[in-house]
Amino acid sequence: MGRIDCDVAVVGAGITGIATAYYLCVVQKVRDVVVIDPNPPMSFTSAQSGENYRNWWPHPVMTAFTDDSIDLMEQVARESDNRLNMTRRGYALATRENPDALIEELHRGYGAGSAGSIRLHTAGAVDDYRFDPSAGWDAAPDGVDVLRDPDIIRRTLPVYADDVSTVIHIRRAGDISGQQLGQFMLERLRESGGRVIAGSVASIDPSVGFLLDVTGRDEVRHVRCERIVNAAGPFAGEIARMTGVALPVTNVFQQKIAFEDRDGVIPRRMPFSIDLDAQVIDWSDEETELLRQESGTAWLTEPMPGAIHCRPDGGDHGRWIKLGWAYEQNPTAVQWEPQVDGHFPEIVLRGASRLIPGLKTYYGALPRQMTHYGGYYTMTEENWPLIGPMGVEGSYIVGALSGFGTMAACAAGSLCAKWLAGAELPDYAAALSLARYDDAALMADLADLQSKGVL
Ligand SMILES: Cc1cc2nc3c(=O)[nH]c(=O)nc-3n(C[C@H](O)[C@H](O)[C@H](O)COP(=O)(O)OP(=O)(O)OC[C@H]3O[C@@H](n4cnc5c(N)ncnc54)[C@H](O)[C@@H]3O)c2cc1C
Repeated sequence: MGRIDCDVAVVGAGITGIATAYYLCVVQKVRDVVVIDPNPPMSFTSAQSGENYRNWWPHPVMTAFTDDSIDLMEQVARESDNRLNMTRRGYALATRENPDALIEELHRGYGAGSAGSIRLHTAGAVDDYRFDPSAGWDAAPDGVDVLRDPDIIRRTLPVYADDVSTVIHIRRAGDISGQQLGQFMLERLRESGGRVIAGSVASIDPSVGFLLDVTGRDEVRHVRCERIVNAAGPFAGEIARMTGVALPVTNVFQQKIAFEDRDGVIPRRMPFSIDLDAQVIDWSDEETELLRQESGTAWLTEPMPGAIHCRPDGGDHGRWIKLGWAYEQNPTAVQWEPQVDGHFPEIVLRGASRLIPGLKTYYGALPRQMTHYGGYYTMTEENWPLIGPMGVEGSYIVGALSGFGTMAACAAGSLCAKWLAGAELPDYAAALSLARYDDAALMADLADLQSKGVL
C-alpha cells in the first residue's frame, strides 16, 4: 500500500488527536478519517499527564470551555460505566495571604451570575460547608466553597500547615484516567470506520488538497487528504511550518513525581491540594550554603513561584501520591526522550512540605521505586489553546493545550470537529482560535489578567 486517500488526516494520536477523530467520526459522522502517528497512541505528552481536571480559571472563556469538556467527560463516564475512573473531590487552593484578590478573580472567572455559587464560610457563621467524603462525580456539589474559618480548615484538612488561613475548595474538579478516556475513544472511532496508521509526517504539499509524505513503520508512503488537522502536541509548530504557517507557540518542560506514601501522610480523601503562595524552599543552612556556591543550583535558594500541588493517587485504597510543580518558565527545544532533572524530586518534596509538613518524613528518603516523569506544556503566551482554521484553507489546528490537555481534550476535539463539519460553534470558538490575535480588546483583557491559570 503506497498511498491512501482520505477525507481528513489527523496528525498525532495523543489525547487531542484521538478526541478530534472521535468527535469527527462518531458525532459529526465524517467518514474517512485517518490518524497518523509514528508512536503508539497516547504515548507522548498524553502519557505524562497528572490527569487532573477543574473548571477554575481566571477568565470566563476558559471556564466555559472546560465546563463543556467536563460535561462531555461525564457523558463518556455515563456511557462506559465510568471506565475513565472520573472522581470529584475538588481542588483545594490554600493560602496564608489576604484572599480578596483571589475571591475577586473567582467571581470574574465564573462570570456574571456566579455570586450564588461562591459560598463564603467565615468564623462564627452558620457552618453549612459540606466536605463530601465520597469520590463520586455525580454526587458532588457544584460551585466553590471559600473557607475562612480556621476551625473548619483544621477539622477538614488537618494535614495542612497551621498558618494556612484560607482554603478555596473548587468543587467541579477531580481526576480521571486519561489513558482510559483515550482507549474508549479509539475503540469507538475504529468502530465508526476511523483508522490509525503508524508513520511520521515528514512534509506536506498543500497545493492539491494535502499530500503528506509519511515515513515510518507502515507501508504507507503518502496520504492524500482534503483536509488536515494538526494535533501534533509539542510538534504542532513543526507541522504548521510544513504548510507555511508560523504558530505562536512554545514548549516548556514540566515534571512530576509519584511514590508510595508508606507512612500514610496523605489522607486518601484529600482533594487535589495546591499551595498558592510563593516560597523559599526549606533547605537547612548548610544545604543553602552548598547550593549557593554552585552557579547551576543557586536559583534553588531564591524565592520560587506558588502553585505546588499534591494529591493521593490510585483511589481510596491505594497508597501512592503525586507531587507536581510547574515552576519552569523557559521555553526549550523538544526532544523525543527528554531528560528529567535529578534535583526535581527533592525540590518538589520540600516545596510541598510547606503546605503538608508531614511530608518532611521523606526528606532525603524518597522511596527508590518513585516514578519521576516529565513532558512539555505546549503554550501560547496567554496560555489559551488554539483550535480552528490554521491558515491554508482546509487546514486546522487543535493544540497549545499546555497543562490542561487531558481535561480539555473532549471540548477541544468536539470544537475542532465542529469547525471541520461546519456545525454550529460555541460562543467561545473565535476566542480560542487564531482569530483572537485580531481582537485587540480581548488581547488587552488577557494581558491585564494577574494569573494565566498555569498549574
Ligand atoms: C508533567 C505534565 C503534567 C500534566 N498534567 C495535566 C493534568 O493534570 N491535567 C490535564 O488536563 N493536563 C495535564 N497535562 C497536559 C496534557 O498532558 C497535555 O496537554 C496533553 O497530553 C496534550 O495532548 P496532545 O495530544 O496535544 O499531545 P501529545 O500527547 O504529545 O500527542 C501528540 C502526538 O503527535 C505525534 N506527532 C508529533 N510529530 C508528528 C509527525 N510529524 N507525524 C505524525 N505524528 C506526530 C506524537 O508522536 C504524539 O503522539 C500535563 C502535562 C505534563 C507534561
